Amino acid sequence: MITDSQTLEENFYASADVVIVGSGAGGAPMAYQLALAGWNVILLEEGQKHSPYTFNRQSWEAMKEMYRDSGMTFTIGTPSIPLPMGRALGGTTLINSGTCFRIREEVFAGWKKEFGLSEIEMSDLLPRFEQVESILNVQETPVELLGSNNRLFSEGAQKLGVMTKPLYRNFKNCKGVGLCVFGCPENAKQSMEKNFLPNASELGAKIITSARVEKICVKRNTVTGVEGSFLDDRKKRRTKFKIDAPVVVLSCGAVHTPHLLLSNGIANGSGQVGHNLHIHPATKVIAIFDDIINAWSGVPQGCYSDDYASEGIMLEGFFLPPAILSFALPSLGMKLKKYMADYSKMAGFGVMVTDSSHGKVIKGMGHMPLIFYNLNQTDTDKFVKGIEIAAKIYFEAGATKILLPIHGFDEVSSIDELKKLHQVKISPSDLELSAFHPMGTCRMGDNPKTSVVNSHLESHEIKGLFVADASIFPSSLGVNPQISIMAFSLFAADHLIRHKDRYLI
Ligand SMILES: Cc1cc2nc3c(=O)[nH]c(=O)nc-3n(C[C@H](O)[C@H](O)[C@H](O)COP(=O)(O)OP(=O)(O)OC[C@H]3O[C@@H](n4cnc5c(N)ncnc54)[C@H](O)[C@@H]3O)c2cc1C
Ligand code: SF4
Repeated sequence: MITDSQTLEENFYASADVVIVGSGAGGAPMAYQLALAGWNVILLEEGQKHSPYTFNRQSWEAMKEMYRDSGMTFTIGTPSIPLPMGRALGGTTLINSGTCFRIREEVFAGWKKEFGLSEIEMSDLLPRFEQVESILNVQETPVELLGSNNRLFSEGAQKLGVMTKPLYRNFKNCKGVGLCVFGCPENAKQSMEKNFLPNASELGAKIITSARVEKICVKRNTVTGVEGSFLDDRKKRRTKFKIDAPVVVLSCGAVHTPHLLLSNGIANGSGQVGHNLHIHPATKVIAIFDDIINAWSGVPQGCYSDDYASEGIMLEGFFLPPAILSFALPSLGMKLKKYMADYSKMAGFGVMVTDSSHGKVIKGMGHMPLIFYNLNQTDTDKFVKGIEIAAKIYFEAGATKILLPIHGFDEVSSIDELKKLHQVKISPSDLELSAFHPMGTCRMGDNPKTSVVNSHLESHEIKGLFVADASIFPSSLGVNPQISIMAFSLFAADHLIRHKDRYLI
């Protein structure tokens, strides 16, 4: 049953085998797998349920409804970086681009080497990836849905000897209308509220929306449940609730899970809660052509190049509706108006960096975490290289102007002009970035002194307290994280199922 808390009584009380907090990439598969095994599951989600029939088609309005803080979440540091997150049934998967990558074997091997992870092998993850990919209908983006932006970029890349490939995505009957990050209006993107969550609900899981967990109850180093507030339509506290359970899984995402732990002052003997934040910083290169491109048609994130992945640079397609893109262009006033008049002649590609930089989440006022992050020079240099490659590719494809996200190089008109990028030192503060993949703030590992959870994702200190979301990754993943989060979550769920007697009395 999926219920909005506004229909529930005041001072609500219930008990369950497990309480899962958050309904995104981590929480939803956990709810499904445990419900399938017959567990009495309650999942609590702070956001609301949305449907393709009620999605707001005005991009700013859609962000207000489905994104936390209307999408205006920023890091503090140099440069300050927008870090949007979903707050809705389905978590950030409701408003993501639908790209699906498995974790790279070399990244996993690096984690094993540095952090032990003695209870998990790649062979444990492979069947979980297969399960996720089957449930989410993950498939390669068909060529006919790539749209002219991805096609032009691929043509330019080919001329330079750079290989592009269609991305794997979770969709059924995608029409390529290009609004994935505002909630797919075609019901095509297979985000959590279309599969794991309704399936869990059919198996008996109780899913309650507009329910914010504020307290994790712990007795003698064992978790006993959660307390929090049911919210009204304006996200204000309506009434309190309490749920008792011997297992609590935190899946609030890599910003709010550490914030909840820090606010409760628990599970932080290592001092690592909130630390080691990686965000996969990203930026975009905008090309302007003489001809009409209509880059909005087709799947925005349709193809990619991983030719430079070993250097920590991924190139992935992107495009945005005019209202949002106009905020991302390097200009104001008449100049911006002139650029926007060329909207139909624009194309765009993203550059994402595997960050060696790291930041931290600390406790802010009330429910507002503070996110600190400074980009280092190594990652800055990766950006300059990635931006230059993407710009060269677009020039090869016939672009006449490129708008670069580097102060002082806002507009370039030839490959020759790009050489100027090497004549000055470009520092972190010169870059205009955004980020979509926070991770790492409750990292897993064998050593309780250097990690927050073990490789079954259970707290080293509090029995029955698990973390299953992007917080657990010990370093920057290097690829879009959603299905890796799901695979780890299923692994932890299967551990709980195998050891039921240890937790449920
Ligand atoms: C615009 C955008 C595009 C993206 N595109 C891709 C992509 O194409 N491919 C990809 O792999 N990844 C993508 N991502 C990232 C991906 O969606 C996230 O990494 C993933 O969803 C994170 O999963 P999670 O479980 O950690 O958190 P989330 O999915 O964010 O879920 C956390 C949930 O917990 C809820 N919550 C938080 N605190 C509480 C509380 N105290 N009580 C109750 N509920 C709470 C939140 O409201 C939220 O719904 C994108 C992200 C964004 C913003
Ligand atoms: S491109 Fe359109 S139809 Fe396809 S998944 Fe995205 S929003 Fe849905």
